[in-house]
Amino acid sequence: MTPPQTKEFCVSIVGGGVCGLTCAIALAREGVPVDIFESASKFSEIGAGLGLGPNAIRVLRALGIYDNVLARSTDKGTNMNSYRFISGTGGHEVLYDNPLAPEDRGIGVMRYDFLNALVDHFDMGRAHFNKRCTGVVQSSTGSRLTMYFSDGSTHETDLVIGADGIRSSVRSAITGQASDANLAFSNTIAYRTLIPWDEVKHKGLKTDLTLGMTCFAGKGKHVIVYPIQGGQIINTIGFVTNMVDELPVGNGHMPPGEKWVCDAPAEELRGNFREFGSDIQKLFSCVRNTSRWSIHHVYPPLRSYVRGKIALIGDSAHAMRTHLGAGAGQGLEDCYVLAKLLGHPSADVNNLEEILQEYDEIRRPRAQRVWERTVMTGEIYEGRGPSGFTPEGFTKDLTGNWLYVWHHDLDADIQAAIHRLQNDGIF
Ligand SMILES: Cc1cc2nc3c(=O)[nH]c(=O)nc-3n(C[C@H](O)[C@H](O)[C@H](O)COP(=O)(O)OP(=O)(O)OC[C@H]3O[C@@H](n4cnc5c(N)ncnc54)[C@H](O)[C@@H]3O)c2cc1C
Repeated sequence: MTPPQTKEFCVSIVGGGVCGLTCAIALAREGVPVDIFESASKFSEIGAGLGLGPNAIRVLRALGIYDNVLARSTDKGTNMNSYRFISGTGGHEVLYDNPLAPEDRGIGVMRYDFLNALVDHFDMGRAHFNKRCTGVVQSSTGSRLTMYFSDGSTHETDLVIGADGIRSSVRSAITGQASDANLAFSNTIAYRTLIPWDEVKHKGLKTDLTLGMTCFAGKGKHVIVYPIQGGQIINTIGFVTNMVDELPVGNGHMPPGEKWVCDAPAEELRGNFREFGSDIQKLFSCVRNTSRWSIHHVYPPLRSYVRGKIALIGDSAHAMRTHLGAGAGQGLEDCYVLAKLLGHPSADVNNLEEILQEYDEIRRPRAQRVWERTVMTGEIYEGRGPSGFTPEGFTKDLTGNWLYVWHHDLDADIQAAIHRLQNDGIF
């Protein structure tokens, strides 16, 4: 049940993906009236897996959502119980086995199961569909904001949160530039597919794919696999990087008009991984169809995630490469911090800008650091790591690689921000 809405200001969220919905739930829990404006006709997610690390799980637990996520995904507990890196070519030698303490284990879930678990906790009366936001401006007559939508309608509100994903339109209201001014192609394409375990288990793979995350690493390409839905489905992503331009950060651009996401025949995936070993050949022989994603990220990084009473969360602020499985987790951290600050007893309509500045102060350095690590991690997976493509090199480069992402005290961040606001006489 949604707690009483005690705050006198209201918040409008643009975008009802995982971050928009989580943020709305978190704000409602803090007594903040909140509406979601979603461009699609309903809340929806694609049929693909999503890995959530311990930091994301802590947020879900704090919001009281975690058990429902497990129930929806038919897993009884964590299913990312190991992180193994295996040579993609040759005999699939182990390059690095990341030992996971119980508190380091994560979950792999079907994206739509996760989204539906969130929807269960949201008051649908506050969801507005077919509302594509085209702009947000400060009202000339007062301190409120006006949101504009593609259907010609407008909405007045006290604070706007842009959760509208990597191609965010709200980002322009922060940067003053076109949305794609801070977008870059990473030079990597990803083939996503779901494979029923029933079809794989008879193939006699050398590697057990049911234990957790497995990365088959190769030069300029790699494959990530993990079980979801109680191990019935193997979520599979094959990554191929074009290193012609030698752009480790990936500030390339796709040819104009080319689609970011499209269907791709299984043959294309198989062709790209022809030199990989027997496990990948057997696994990919079960693939019927894939989708091909051109992986983009927010680059150059934003100088701020906020402007006035507008804030960005999730991919609109810091879309990153996928290699740490951390993008959504960073977005969930944004939601938790923002809701705790806006829900503080001293937060009111007069101090919203200062609160958003604190949100930016806390979240931007951390999310950007994770963003940078995703770049380096991809380099390691694909044979360009600093210590080389050997078991020794992988062990050196990957030991402790996830600790910064997984073990961070968000509550300490929030307390420090509240102290600063109190010391400045704002709270
Ligand atoms: C191949 C791949 C694998 C990944 N794997 C992982 C992983 O394992 N773990 C992980 O943590 N992260 C992963 N990520 C990243 C993760 O998917 C994103 O970080 C996360 O989905 C971002 O959520 P979001 O809510 O910010 O944006 P989105 O999920 O993109 O949601 C944005 C929402 O806003 C709506 N919208 C868009 N524009 C407008 C508008 N103008 N007006 C109104 N509504 C609008 C959209 O319809 C959508 O509902 C992966 C990404 C990719 C590409």
